[in-house]
Amino acid sequence: MRLPYLLLDIDGVLIPFPAAIGTSPPTHARHDVVPAGRSADDAVTVWLNPAHGPLLMDVIRSGLVTPVWCTSWRQDATTLIGPLLCLPSFPYVDLPRPQITTSHPNGYLWKRDHVDAWIADAPVAWIDDDFTDLDQEWAAERDAGGTPTLLVQPDPYIGLLPEHLATVRKWATGKPLHDAGTAATARC
Ligand SMILES: [Mg+2]
Repeated sequence: MRLPYLLLDIDGVLIPFPAAIGTSPPTHARHDVVPAGRSADDAVTVWLNPAHGPLLMDVIRSGLVTPVWCTSWRQDATTLIGPLLCLPSFPYVDLPRPQITTSHPNGYLWKRDHVDAWIADAPVAWIDDDFTDLDQEWAAERDAGGTPTLLVQPDPYIGLLPEHLATVRKWATGKPLHDAGTAATARC
């Protein structure tokens, strides 16, 4: 069987939402990045957890999944965010830029139709903070139809935790993970 894709969101997963008082978790470090199409004096501040790099590399090096960015950062995920976590370059789903005012314009995550077309009949583990019940139904139907499908949904105010990746590894191997890895600091 071909390797499952591991689809990775960024906002609400690697970059947590700020708390009501505007703070981010103390585990995260501030970076100013300039997304494609913006000028250097129009940088965007992001908060990233340096421990996420080694945690993700642990899964990537396992050879159990094929990592793919699936985020409105699009190519900037590969060129800006990944390198800050010492991640190698990997593909991204080239999502469109729909004129929508909600992330669930049809009751489910706006990315899903594009993802559905992109992954075709491939197995997938998808980490995103913004699934709805309809997305869960889509995943359950896909899985029941013989295409392994796992949705993992972090709390957007906390973001990705080691147990989320342990869930992916367990799903990909059918076995529990004995060592979820340590929260090492990324060093590129
Ligand atoms: Mg998100």
